[in-house]
Amino acid sequence: MNTTTTPKGLFHTPFRLAPEQNVFANRAVRFKELAEQERSDWKDYLLVLAAVCDAQHAVSQNFSLPLPENTVNGILPKAQAEHLPEVFAEIVYALLNKAQPHIQTAAVLQEISTLQNLKPSEIRRLAGEVFDGTCRPAAEIWIQAALQIVWTAWAAQVGEDDVAVTEERTHCPCCGTPAVGSVVLIQSDLSGLRYMYCPLCNSRWNALRAKCPTCGDGGNVRLQHIEGGDTPDLPDAYTAAHAESCKSCHTYRKLYRRDKQQYADPIADDLATLGLDIAVGEAGFERSGANPFLILTED
Ligand SMILES: [Zn+2]
Ligand SMILES: [Zn+2]
Repeated sequence: MNTTTTPKGLFHTPFRLAPEQNVFANRAVRFKELAEQERSDWKDYLLVLAAVCDAQHAVSQNFSLPLPENTVNGILPKAQAEHLPEVFAEIVYALLNKAQPHIQTAAVLQEISTLQNLKPSEIRRLAGEVFDGTCRPAAEIWIQAALQIVWTAWAAQVGEDDVAVTEERTHCPCCGTPAVGSVVLIQSDLSGLRYMYCPLCNSRWNALRAKCPTCGDGGNVRLQHIEGGDTPDLPDAYTAAHAESCKSCHTYRKLYRRDKQQYADPIADDLATLGLDIAVGEAGFERSGANPFLILTED
């Protein structure tokens, strides 16, 4: 889509980076690593998500998802029921079939068979419930996984220079979803730069480290960290994960330093560092930016 290339300076910092190639496969590997380090029953859920991400990788190779016509200036259609592609239900079925042999949790297998028996129209209705926040949690992870496949495939077709630089840095400039967290990169020319991370389309966009991405305040941002030294049982995700809290707007988002853990992933590592959320929550800060796989159940 992006055919014109503007000459760039030697130290050009791209505002937006397209989704990483093989993002779902890499995330699956990371979920498996984190599951191995997890001592509690939460391990089972991390393993389910590893199977989901492996399935996302496989399924995303098998569907052609051309950029929708209503993509304007690199801005994708919002995640809403009317923007789902025709093949959405087929993507969900393919995900379920691919993941099924790798799932050991009985309740998850039960849900898979329930969803496999739904009609395409019912699958699309479930997606509507996800957008409204009324979907039952067991079904939601599959719908979320399918939405990520679609929006990530689209975002991969948007050229770097097609997306306009926005002043506001909490929402994805490509699809409008609030950032789940941010990553401080280590690639040579981008080393030390912070990129916010989209949990839906996997786009990344640059934001200054010194400023609160939520309210823009520069003076009240603190990084909180849980030291692994006292608790050697903690997953290695804690070495990279910091909660970036702001006393002006009383919110926080997580920031991952790849110089500390080069495979840190803002979706997977988030779910392996929930102790940090508890600590920051107790200190009075509210979380900004949802993780599509952090689905809270009643029990
Ligand atoms: Zn996005
Ligand atoms: Zn703030």
